Amino acid sequence: MNQYLRRFHECPGCGASSSETKHLFNVSLLETFCSVGQCSSCGLVYKTFVPTKEGLERIYSNEYVHFGTDTIDIADFNTAKQKLSKVRKALSGKRLPNELKLLDVGCGSGNFVRIAQNLGYQAEGIDPYLPSQLKSKYLHNKSPEDILQNSYNIAVLLNVAEHLDQPRQMFSAIRQLLKPDGVMLLTCPYGDSYARRVHQAYWGHLALDEHLLFWTPRSLTKLLHEVGFQGKVSYRIAGSPFPYGRVKSQVFTTKEAETEVQASSEYKEHKPTLQAQVWQFARAIQRQQIAANFVRSMIHLTHTGDYLEYVIKVGK
Ligand SMILES: [Zn+2]
Repeated sequence: MNQYLRRFHECPGCGASSSETKHLFNVSLLETFCSVGQCSSCGLVYKTFVPTKEGLERIYSNEYVHFGTDTIDIADFNTAKQKLSKVRKALSGKRLPNELKLLDVGCGSGNFVRIAQNLGYQAEGIDPYLPSQLKSKYLHNKSPEDILQNSYNIAVLLNVAEHLDQPRQMFSAIRQLLKPDGVMLLTCPYGDSYARRVHQAYWGHLALDEHLLFWTPRSLTKLLHEVGFQGKVSYRIAGSPFPYGRVKSQVFTTKEAETEVQASSEYKEHKPTLQAQVWQFARAIQRQQIAANFVRSMIHLTHTGDYLEYVIKVGK
């Protein structure tokens, strides 16, 4: 192990001893061989090593990809609208968007905040690694612990839950900043997806050093109930369907092994160009609301996606 890593001594979700975690396969994390396991108590799939403060700073530099300012596409707009409709359904009463305060936790370049404002919400974003050039009246360099308690109706965590090195602390702080009838929406890779089970170390979401935790509805609900969320849960299996989601593995530590894999016909069939094509196709579907909703329903019903869209209320 190097200075950038430490070991999880217990399951980061439920706190069960690491002896209850079943080894699944190995991947590479910050150039170190790392076991990926599944907790037999709560079902969370996780990398058993976690970056230290130095490791996290190395990952989330100012060049970090989610701080890039890309333009907002109609596909982003439609997807955000669909997610917010789930939140509105979960919120009690029939309040207008402009009566609802929304906080995007881990806001990156702030695209979701801009879309939510456009839809009428009082939206702001926070990110503890926000580069100074992105700071504004609505985007803050803050952590959930810095936010006033009982101040937001909606907390949104898009592709954040898989990054957390201390999920209990994070979710507890989010519970505190939400109002008693508040709602949290999160999206993250789905730890029990077919893609993860079949592709194992080749699963696309495992390739990034900053992706540490792979939640299931059960592991999320168990932890969120423990930190004080008591309300209704709804979730949907989303994302790219099986058999996509496979990329070149980072598991191989020797040059010879890597060369061997790249030369194999199996690898050639799954080279990233196919992934790029699938992604472009998915974006084209997202631009058409009716088609997108149909595909979403099919993916959920057939349980073939590798992503989770999860909504939980604070109170009953
Ligand atoms: Zn656990």
